[in-house]
Amino acid sequence: MADDTYGGASLPSGPDGRKRRVTYFYEPTIGDYYYGQGHPMKPHRIRMAHNLIVHYGLHRRMEINRPYPAGTEDIQRFHSDDYVDFLASVSPETLSDHSFSRYLKRFNVGEDCPVFDGLFGFCQASAGGSIGAAVKLNRGDADIAINWAGGLHHAKKSEASGFCYVNDIVLGILELLKYHKRVLYIDIDVHHGDGVEEAFYTTDRVMTVSFHKFGDFFPGTGHIKDVGVGSGKNYALNVPLNDGMDDDSFRGLFRPLIQKVMEVYQPDAVVLQCGADSLAGDRLGCFNLSVKGHADCLRFLRSFNVPLMVLGGGGYTIRNVARCWCYETAVAVGVEPDNKLPYNEYFEYFGPDYTLHIEPSNMENLNSPKDMEKIRNTLLEQLSRLPHAPSVPFQMTPSSEVPEEVEENMERRPKRRIWNGEDYDSDAEENRKRPNNSEGPGVNNLTRDEVDGMEEDKNMDHQPR
Ligand SMILES: [Zn+2]
Repeated sequence: MADDTYGGASLPSGPDGRKRRVTYFYEPTIGDYYYGQGHPMKPHRIRMAHNLIVHYGLHRRMEINRPYPAGTEDIQRFHSDDYVDFLASVSPETLSDHSFSRYLKRFNVGEDCPVFDGLFGFCQASAGGSIGAAVKLNRGDADIAINWAGGLHHAKKSEASGFCYVNDIVLGILELLKYHKRVLYIDIDVHHGDGVEEAFYTTDRVMTVSFHKFGDFFPGTGHIKDVGVGSGKNYALNVPLNDGMDDDSFRGLFRPLIQKVMEVYQPDAVVLQCGADSLAGDRLGCFNLSVKGHADCLRFLRSFNVPLMVLGGGGYTIRNVARCWCYETAVAVGVEPDNKLPYNEYFEYFGPDYTLHIEPSNMENLNSPKDMEKIRNTLLEQLSRLPHAPSVPFQMTPSSEVPEEVEENMERRPKRRIWNGEDYDSDAEENRKRPNNSEGPGVNNLTRDEVDGMEEDKNMDHQPR
C-alpha cells in the first residue's frame, strides 16, 4: 500500500505520528444475553471480540471501563416514556399478559426484536457504554472511545426495529452535544442508519452520513435525495450502494466524501458506527469488504485527530465480527497485530486458517465505476452547497423531535423485517460452541482470560456522570 494508507488528512505531525489515548467500554455479562434460538443477533460476538483483544494484549494499551448502566431517565432523553416503561417491565414470562400484549405491535416488539431474558439490562449496558464514551470525550479524558456493544442504529423514539431497542448512538450524540457544537455521525453498517438520521434530520448540529446497500433491502430508507429538512437540509448524506461492494470501491467513495465533509463541516467530535455486516460473507449482508478495507474507515478518521467515538452495530457471521472489531481496536491504539491469531477461548471458531484477516469472496461487484463516480459527484456537489462550519447558537438544544409530518409517514409505512426468520441454529458455527449461558444474564460467566484482562487495568470503575 502507498503511504497514504496511514494518510493523515489534517495531521500536522506527519503520517499518523501521535499516539491516541483510547478508552474502551465493556460489560462482562454482555455475551450472556441471548435473543433466542435461531436469532442471528448474538451478543456473544462482543465477548468473542473482547477475548481476542485481551489475547493480543491490546487492553494494556487502553483504559478499560465497565459501563454504568443507563437509567430510565437517561434513555428517555430520546425515547418516549411509555416505550421505555414498556422495555423496563416486559419479560418473557409476562409477555402474554393482556397488559403487555397490546403494546407488542405498537412498539414493534416480537419477531425481529423479541422479548428475551434481561432485555432491558442489555439495552442499559449498550446505551451506558455509548453515554459513558461521550462523557470521556466531553471531559477530554480520551481521544478515542470504543463501545462495541453500541451502534444500534435502527431503534426509533417509540419503536424497536432491526434487532435494536434503544438507540445508544442518539443518546451518545445528545451527550456529546452538551460540549461540542457540531457532531459528525458516520455509518458503515450494510443497512441504512435510519434511526440516527431520523433523530437529527432537522438540525445542522449533527451531520449524518450513511453508506449502505439500497434497493429492496432493510430498512428501505436512505435514498441519495434524502438530505434533511429545515435547518437540517443538506446535513444528512446518503450513499446508496449495490451488492458486492469491495475495498477499492468503498475507499474510493469514503475517503473523498469524508475528506470533504471534514473540510466543510469541521465537526468537534465524530461518531463512527462500525457495523460489521458490511464484511464479506456476512449472513445478512451483501457487501464484500475485507477486515482491512472496513478498518480503513477508522484509520482515515483517526488521522484527523478529532475526538472520536467508535461503536459496533450489525454483524452476523460472528467469527468475522470478532476479527473486525479486534483489528479496529488495534487500529485505534495504533498497532498492527500479527495475522496469526493467538490462542483464545473461542479458538475453534476461527478455523481452518486461524487468522485475523479474511479474504473477500469472488462475488461480482455490482457497483460500476460509472455509478460510483456519479454518486461521488452528486454528494460532493451537495457538500459544496454547505456554508463552511455553520455557526450555531451554542445554547440551542437541538431537537431530536421528529417533525409530525415525517412521523406520520413513518407510521403509515409497512414495518419491514431485517431478517427472513430463517433459523441459523443448524450452522456449524453455532453448534461448535453454544453461549455459555442461554438462560440469560443472571449468571456471570466471565472466562479466566476476561477476568485477567480486566484486572490488569485497575480502571473498572463505573463512570460517574
Ligand atoms: Zn446492519
